[in-house]
Amino acid sequence: MELIDGNKIAADIIAELKAQVALLPGRPPCLALVRVGEDPASVSYVKKKEKASADIGITSRLLFPPVTISQDELFALIDGLNADSEVDGILVQSPLPKHLNEVAVFRRIAAHKDVDGFHTLNLGKLAQEDETGFVACTPAGIMQLLQRSGVSISGRHVVVLGRSLIVGKPTALLALQRKAWANATVTVCHSQTANLPALTRQADVLIAAIGKAGFVTADMVKPGAVVIDVGVNRVADSTKKTGYRLTGDVHFPTVAPLCSKITPVPGGVGPMTVAMLMQNTVKARRQNLPFPQP
Ligand code: NAP
Repeated sequence: MELIDGNKIAADIIAELKAQVALLPGRPPCLALVRVGEDPASVSYVKKKEKASADIGITSRLLFPPVTISQDELFALIDGLNADSEVDGILVQSPLPKHLNEVAVFRRIAAHKDVDGFHTLNLGKLAQEDETGFVACTPAGIMQLLQRSGVSISGRHVVVLGRSLIVGKPTALLALQRKAWANATVTVCHSQTANLPALTRQADVLIAAIGKAGFVTADMVKPGAVVIDVGVNRVADSTKKTGYRLTGDVHFPTVAPLCSKITPVPGGVGPMTVAMLMQNTVKARRQNLPFPQP
């Protein structure tokens, strides 16, 4: 069994982006990070994004409206960023408080600044394999992890567990693309899927994104499979200072010995999500230059 080191692969991508940013004409790329309220996980995610931006030479603009912000007020804030020519990318950290309509917020962001890739236009471009669009960061990160660790999915059976807009659906669309690095045969499973273990056992590459700690057990995995664990779940742990530890959707101790390769949690998909956000921000800057750079 080989561990896929997301920290190392993400660090390589960050270094590549830093070199690219140094060569860009004019001002550096600028990413607006919008975090509504003080949700501890969101605070931590936005901090990581801010740090990666600084490492690369991307300017970040931080906007932290209170949890009580109304939908119209958040729209007005986004409209301001859309109209600001100094801002290349806009990220609104999810999840949003329940009184806000997340999909409507994603749609409000100008498609050419939608570095999270959740706008209707960018999801449509993904389906059409139009590379001018922005691909959602976690799915793009999963594909990079596979490519950069020498896993070819072409002609192989990829089973995606989960059908969310943020992970499951775009991951399935990417794996299906008519590209040498994709070309997979894809099955997507969800909470209404019958006979789930029989399907997951057919996977050459199993991608778990359901948000349930340790859900994927050894009896659900084909020996020799590659397993990508997207899940980030907090499990109570009194031995930790925080009182919890992070764990994936895969029961790592029993599944890992079966696999040819597997991602750990933390240190697998998570860092790749941040790296892909940075990549999209650099792409946004390039595309927004007066003479767009390839
Ligand atoms: P989500 O929106 O809650 O979607 C979960 C999906 O899993 C749904 O499609 C759901 O099916 C399916 N599901 C739930 N229970 C199931 C079951 N018992 N059997 C089969 N399918 C089941 O979650 P998400 O946003 O995609 O996130 C999934 C996990 O990835 C979470 O742990 C999240 O924290 C993590 N995540 C990590 C990163 C990262 O950077 N590492 C980024 C994003 C998300 P239905 O559609 O039928 O409800």
